[in-house]
Amino acid sequence: MTLPQHHEIVVIGAGIAGSSIASELLECGQTVCVIDSALHPASACSSHAYAIAHPHVGRGALRLLRLTRIAFLLAEARWGKTWNRHGIFQLNKKDKVFNRDDVANYLQSLDLNQGMAQVLDADEAIQACGVSQDGIWLSRGASLNLFEAANDALAPHPKLTCCWNTSVARLEKVNTGWQLIDPQDKPIMTAGKVIIAAALETKKLAASIDVRLPLRPVRGQLSIFSIDEHSSWVPKLPRTAISGDGYCLPANKLPDGSYQWIVGSSFDEGESDLEDWNASDDFNREQARGLLNYEHGELSQLQKLGSFVGVRCVAGDRLPIIGALTQRPGIFLATALGSRGALWSALAAKLITAQVLEDDFSLLARLGFAADLVAALAPARFFAGALAAAPALGAFASNSKPILPSAPKAR
Ligand SMILES: Cc1cc2nc3c(=O)[nH]c(=O)nc-3n(C[C@H](O)[C@H](O)[C@H](O)COP(=O)(O)OP(=O)(O)OC[C@H]3O[C@@H](n4cnc5c(N)ncnc54)[C@H](O)[C@@H]3O)c2cc1C
Repeated sequence: MTLPQHHEIVVIGAGIAGSSIASELLECGQTVCVIDSALHPASACSSHAYAIAHPHVGRGALRLLRLTRIAFLLAEARWGKTWNRHGIFQLNKKDKVFNRDDVANYLQSLDLNQGMAQVLDADEAIQACGVSQDGIWLSRGASLNLFEAANDALAPHPKLTCCWNTSVARLEKVNTGWQLIDPQDKPIMTAGKVIIAAALETKKLAASIDVRLPLRPVRGQLSIFSIDEHSSWVPKLPRTAISGDGYCLPANKLPDGSYQWIVGSSFDEGESDLEDWNASDDFNREQARGLLNYEHGELSQLQKLGSFVGVRCVAGDRLPIIGALTQRPGIFLATALGSRGALWSALAAKLITAQVLEDDFSLLARLGFAADLVAALAPARFFAGALAAAPALGAFASNSKPILPSAPKAR
């Protein structure tokens, strides 16, 4: 009997998470094998062409703010030609009093200078972005075509092997590391180190090595609307992206004079249906009104042109799960990217690579990865013993019993 092929580093999943990590490892001179059940990269949630990216600037857990700031800088540096910088206007919450000085001081406390985040009142915002509302102008905010980015990251490379149409059903410990086994119970290959970046399927793969992860699906639908050139919506359409309750991209004028405008997205907890829902388009039409503060906008004038439907994978505490699974040496996780695939994949690429290669921790420190931030992302945070564990790079967990976090925190 011939032994299954051995690879030193295998990445399961060729979405934006797995492809970014593989690409970073290749840049570090490693030989990498990527394995995916689909026929090409970015076939699932990462087929998304309109993902926006900006540091989180709302009130919220300080760790999330620090993490998204680092991740944003890494994403900006990573995505190069696919990074579409158009700026993003973050709306002031409607029920919050807008005090310019307070917001400016708050941004400063987050280490976000004027080049990154600028307070604008409604009069200034109409000049800068065509939106007559108070908020924060994130001039470096961008959108990313995740499909293109993932495909670019996995462009042919002498040290890259891709195994398409190959599903991994479970993992098993062997002398040389880990064995990957297919749904027919046949060995696929063995690997010294395995990075699982299979979104929700990570739960099943982790369960096969007796590790329970609190992952769940959140369906989302983005609507692509067509707007007639004579519609009353036209003068209101934004020149930049807007983020608030939902988000939209800058409206795009087509050669026939009409506009194409992308607005999203629904957030359907626990749902994993990939069918297009009319109800989600209606929800997005309402969100469009809110984003433009156009309460009386005629909703029927937002005509449906198309949609993107995907299923996000989220963890109970809404932070991604990125890091070494220390109780199963040689296994690393990069999942639960939620609604921030563009940011968290760039962060995962650096963090996982440093942990896989067991070096470069001083680089991580220079990038701003303080130990508490690494521990906040680590799989170990869900397991008994996590709190007692040293909050060092790759915090240690004593066993695999999950502690289910309480209510959702970040979005
Ligand atoms: C409506 C909507 C709007 C969004 N908006 C934004 C946004 O504005 N900005 C942003 O940054 N993000 C956004 N996101 C989130 C973003 O799309 C995701 O975070 C990201 O695509 C997740 O990438 P991933 O690589 O973790 O997962 P996926 O892209 O799902 O990749 C997982 C891969 O693993 C493979 N796989 C799974 N199981 C197996 C197995 N057993 N064996 C082999 N291969 C396997 C799959 O085939 C797939 O290729 C949005 C998502 C939705 C749904």
